[in-house]
Amino acid sequence: MGAMSKPLPASLPRRSVTANGPSPAVMGTYARRDLVFDRGEGSWLVTREGERYLDFGAGVAVNALGHAHPHLVAALTEQAKSLWHTSNLYRVAGQERLADRLVAATFADKVFFCNSGAEACEGAIKIARRYHYVSGHPERWRVITFRGAFHGRTLAAISAGGNEKHMEGFGPEIAGFDHAAFGDIAAVEAAIGPETAAIMVEPIQGEGGVRCAAPEFLRALREICDARGLLLVLDEVQTGVGRTGKLFAHEWAGITPDIMAAAKGLGGGFPVGAILATAEAAKGMSPGTHGSTFGGNPLAMAVANAVLDVVLEPGFLEAVRSKALRLKQGLARLSDQFPDVVEEVRGQGLLMGLKLKLPPADAVGAAAAEKLLIVAAADNVVRILPPLTVEDGEISEAVERLSRAMARLSKPRSSGG
Ligand SMILES: *Cc1c(COP(=O)(O)O)cnc(C)c1O
Repeated sequence: MGAMSKPLPASLPRRSVTANGPSPAVMGTYARRDLVFDRGEGSWLVTREGERYLDFGAGVAVNALGHAHPHLVAALTEQAKSLWHTSNLYRVAGQERLADRLVAATFADKVFFCNSGAEACEGAIKIARRYHYVSGHPERWRVITFRGAFHGRTLAAISAGGNEKHMEGFGPEIAGFDHAAFGDIAAVEAAIGPETAAIMVEPIQGEGGVRCAAPEFLRALREICDARGLLLVLDEVQTGVGRTGKLFAHEWAGITPDIMAAAKGLGGGFPVGAILATAEAAKGMSPGTHGSTFGGNPLAMAVANAVLDVVLEPGFLEAVRSKALRLKQGLARLSDQFPDVVEEVRGQGLLMGLKLKLPPADAVGAAAAEKLLIVAAADNVVRILPPLTVEDGEISEAVERLSRAMARLSKPRSSGG
């Protein structure tokens, strides 16, 4: 296994991705569909062969403004010409601007920038623990999370999520997480102890199968946190940045968190995450307590500011809500049309799910055969989450393609071919 065992070629061979099939050099952590996209335009992805797919997965809620949005392309290329990275040893103008704007638009007083959803969730947990530490309660460090939750794939995040499949083979669970049933206030009350620091919850469990928290549940969590001196941490990595038709999903419930994780749509495809917090919740975060080399670098900030330019434009979120209504009506029609395939339509805004009576992978495959991209989730659900910029005609087209996909899966119809 010495350095000599694998001599490096002077020049690495160039492989044609499509001709040779998937490269074994990429670690096999994903069950990938055998599709290679060359470019994107709005709600569409185009293969090298010129085949056009309607993208109702949006990179799992990341491409909030679709592909190659001119305003984002301009922001990134402009920034790329002047400055990519300086580190957080210095002030970063784009960070200050984005933080100011997020603070103005939300409950938050303070923002920390990172690079991903998991990093935002971990940072949120650290902030919650540190708050109690500097408040004279270092014994308060445990966090109540929910069954079916997803907070990312780092060691703490898989323990927070509590999904056995994600934890298997990775050593003992990271201590400090108590899991309650999603939506069960009595279970939450029972899980609170003298060591509890915070409750962390997704307003809609995305990976968990588009399971929406009832507004009353979120309000009850807020009340419990206030009554018991706990911090309410919201994971809005998937639900944030306009996905549900509000800037952040908790606005629907009329509550605010103490700490919130954001990522996915925030960069519209450029990797960026953020932790938002009230000044009180963030009071322990003094110099040296947390950091991230890449977090909030000028490229990421330029793009995220450009995303906000569009999402905060008057009328943008209203348009998301009316598109969402059109999509929901289309999905409701499908569910009436194919009762042997669809059990339930769920979701809010442009984060919709179909609970199926068959494996979601079958539906994803049937949709791909109709050149429509959708995303599987847990609980037998497929997610339908187009770019927020999706056009009405594209929604109708997607519903039509989904209807043809369902017809492939529906027993009475499949016999007819
Ligand atoms: C995707 C997701 C994460 C993890 O984000 P990564 O960027 O993959 O680390 C965390 N929480 C929620 C709710 C998510 O949807």
